[in-house]
Amino acid sequence: MGKPCIICVAITGSLPTKAANPAVPITVSEQVESTHAAFEAGASICHAHVRNADETPSSDPEKFAALKEGLETHCPGMIIQFSTGGRSGAGLERGGMLSLKPDMASLSVGSNNFPTRVYENPPDLVNWLASEMVVNGVKPEIEAFDLSHILTAAEMHAKGQITDTPYVQFVMGVKNAMPADREVFDFYIKTVKRLFGEDAAWCAAGIGPNQVVLNEWAISSGGHARTGLEDNVRLTKERLAASNAELVARAVGIAEKYERPVATWQQAREILGLRLGG
Ligand SMILES: [Zn+2]
Repeated sequence: MGKPCIICVAITGSLPTKAANPAVPITVSEQVESTHAAFEAGASICHAHVRNADETPSSDPEKFAALKEGLETHCPGMIIQFSTGGRSGAGLERGGMLSLKPDMASLSVGSNNFPTRVYENPPDLVNWLASEMVVNGVKPEIEAFDLSHILTAAEMHAKGQITDTPYVQFVMGVKNAMPADREVFDFYIKTVKRLFGEDAAWCAAGIGPNQVVLNEWAISSGGHARTGLEDNVRLTKERLAASNAELVARAVGIAEKYERPVATWQQAREILGLRLGG
């Protein structure tokens, strides 16, 4: 058997609505219920955004606090990762929940285009988010929308702005950013190994129909995989995913195909250097 594969479930995001798929969890209680089923299906990281009642994105720390409490109660041991992404708030609002000390938070270290706008991550904001993560003991997951983001993470690590070995996620298939390109993907892996060591953990996420493609590429190449309704609301071209758990089950099936055991939450914490106690 290969090494354990961590499955991350991105449950909600800031964009998909119930009109796109009624299974997208919006309220905190829906999020906890959806995550619990995904946890039972094999996910060990929950990547989360929070929403307002009208489904618009929110950065309200009180909502994040309620979600964290619900997840700790119903999914004990699961790794909680909050988004500091730019669709849920502007400027410093994006890091307002870091004082809640989730296990992890996403960190974008550079700018790029999104489908209809620029995804702005100016250096001052990136540096501030990184410093808040250090102060609060939150492990960043570096969202690499481009090759330069991996090299920026290495520079930040060298300067002590990122304390652990950077855990990089390759994001592919966002319109107007990096498409799902196999040669680029392979070069991303090569770059991570060169900068952070042969054994450095990394993961990958694909958007829309690229989700299953990136799951397959990552799992078969020794990486970790992200799935969930944030990135993709369909199981196939013809059918909507019934739940986050159904997308997790698909990733579990791919792990079985490549003879990789699905990481338990304990194994995932060990791989990522996170504390085992609650
Ligand atoms: Zn997200």
